[in-house]
Formats: sequence, structure tokens, C-alpha cells
Amino acid sequence: MAWATHFPCPLYVTTGCWCAFCGSTRAVQALLHGQPADAVRDNGLTVLIVAFAATRLLLWTMGCGRVVEMVDGLIARVDMRIWTALLLVWTVVRNLPAFTALGPAA
Ligand SMILES: [Zn+2]
Repeated sequence: MAWATHFPCPLYVTTGCWCAFCGSTRAVQALLHGQPADAVRDNGLTVLIVAFAATRLLLWTMGCGRVVEMVDGLIARVDMRIWTALLLVWTVVRNLPAFTALGPAA
């Protein structure tokens, strides 16, 4: 089953650069093992996404569906090009020599 969790990133294999999601599997594994600092080290973006999804689910189960719908509406109003640009910025920044700490552990 290790092949399923250690699938090599095509971008990393071909260019040696981390994509926006490199380290995500390890980040989720670290979160599941109660190691949030390691998770942030592997992929901070993944931690943000998981935290957002967990908060959303918690609010929904607490009966705050209206808040969730409001946030969903705000997110849907953001142009897809902005989300794409943010992903590209994240990808570029985490590959800069000054920001290697944003990349997954070797
Ligand atoms: Zn990758």
C-alpha cells in the first residue's frame, strides 16, 4: 500500500521543483498522528485547507449552516483566476532559496 501514499510528484520528478501540493500526503499523515508542526513543515497550504474544511464541518454540525453558506458564497465570488494565481505564487515562493522552509522535508 506504500505505493499509494508515496506516489512521486511528476513536477518534482521532472524538474526538481515542488508543486503547490508536494508534501501534502505527509502533512495529512502528520496531522493524523497529532503532529501539527510537522504537518505545517511538509505543506502549510494543506494544513490551511484541512483546517478550513474541519471548521466548516464543525460549524455545519453545530447548526451554523447559515454561516457556512455565507462563507461559501464569499469564496464562490472570488474569481478562479485569483485562486490559480495564489497557487502559482505559493508554488514559486516555496521553491525560492530564501523560503526552502516552506517546502517539504527532504
Ligand atoms: Zn508535487
